[in-house]
Amino acid sequence: MGMLGAGAVVAGVPVAALLFLLAMRWAPVAPTLFAIGMTVLAAMLFALRWSRDVQVLSGTIRRVGADESASQPGQPVLPGMQRLAGDLERLARRSAARSALIEQLRRADGTVVERLPDPLIVLAADRSVGRANSAARAAFGADMPAVLRHPELRAAIDRAFASETTETADMTLPVPVPREVHAAVVPMDPPIADGGRAVVVLSDRTRERAVERMRADFVANVSHELRTPLASLIGFIDTLRGPAADDPPAQQRFLAIMGEQAARMNRLIDDLLSLSRIELVEHQPPSGSVDLGELATRLIAGFEPRLRERSVQLDVRIQGDLPAVVGDADQLVQVLQNLLDNAVKYGREGGTVRFEIAAAAGRAGAVITVTDQGAGIPREHLPRLTERFYRVDTSRSRAAGGTGLGLAIVKHIVNRHRGQLSIESEEGVGTTVRVWLPQTVAQRPVASDIPA
Ligand code: ADP
Repeated sequence: MGMLGAGAVVAGVPVAALLFLLAMRWAPVAPTLFAIGMTVLAAMLFALRWSRDVQVLSGTIRRVGADESASQPGQPVLPGMQRLAGDLERLARRSAARSALIEQLRRADGTVVERLPDPLIVLAADRSVGRANSAARAAFGADMPAVLRHPELRAAIDRAFASETTETADMTLPVPVPREVHAAVVPMDPPIADGGRAVVVLSDRTRERAVERMRADFVANVSHELRTPLASLIGFIDTLRGPAADDPPAQQRFLAIMGEQAARMNRLIDDLLSLSRIELVEHQPPSGSVDLGELATRLIAGFEPRLRERSVQLDVRIQGDLPAVVGDADQLVQVLQNLLDNAVKYGREGGTVRFEIAAAAGRAGAVITVTDQGAGIPREHLPRLTERFYRVDTSRSRAAGGTGLGLAIVKHIVNRHRGQLSIESEEGVGTTVRVWLPQTVAQRPVASDIPA
């Protein structure tokens, strides 16, 4: 209502009454006209004040609506209006505080998504990518489009949007390196603060799957390794009971073979047990200190029969003042034994095996070097020799009584000792295996041992 209208409402009734008095000639003309003039003037002044106050209040309301901080441009003058203005101002302050809180919650939502350690992708209602958090960018960066285009994931997203329940997908990304990725699509109802309607949680399962496969392969390998000698034992038992029952010379031959097969199974089980015992403690370095020279001298004495069997000359060179190394004596015996055993097994029959232990050059510790003059190992096999059951020539290894676990045991023992293993080989010339072991750290005097 305009100012004139408001004035007319206020002045209307008294002016009409005064006009009525005038018309009936009940009041004198001049004073009545004066009264009408004063009434109109008062009404106009009131209307002016009133409309200013209303303007002030409506300005305040507009600012509350627009979420601006409500600083008053002026104060209403009319009594009821002042109270109303106070109420409005409180309302405005509360509303501002609430919008600040909402903004803070919205940002908190964003921070949670961004900082979670799992790779996350937020999807909008139209299934477009709203945002990928830092873990997702770090883990999938350039592969992200390939992940999002993957048909398995697209199908899981469709199912999740349709059913409003969490759906999962397993994908294999072939390039640049094959990766196995698990995704969970979690619908968000109500949507998260930035409008995200679903969150895709990704996890890289490549390592896990590789470990699973390795375990399965290992069990398959062990079963296979045991089955071969077992099958031969069962076959010979049948033969001894049947066709060879009355043939003592054949029985002797078969029993000898059966003895070998049983010994092979025994060796395999011994090696498997050593390997699992070593793996169990691999994370704890040994605490003992070992004199390698003494250890090697004792071991070599027991090797004589094996050397004679293959007419191998052993050229032993053990440095006099070897540093003591950190170690578990039993395990280090196993290392020396497996390396010597391989050199004798795969070295040239009638050749020489050099066995050397010396202080390491340039670093504190000792180096064991075993060199043979065998056929050597083709280059492509070198990186895989320490895998369980990996053999260059399976039938040769079996014929020589190998289990395929010797170098795996050596690698795990050397790892536990925080040492280093290296294998060099040249076809037709021979193979050299080196093991470096760190020196025992001399006990430093503690403060209380130092005389004052
Ligand atoms: P195995 O019981 O078969 O000897 P290892 O783990 O000790 O098992 O060795 C794995 C394979 O590495 C062997 O089967 C053999 O093919 C190869 N190898 C190891 N040492 C030598 C060596 N000194 N010369 C040639 N080949 C070797």
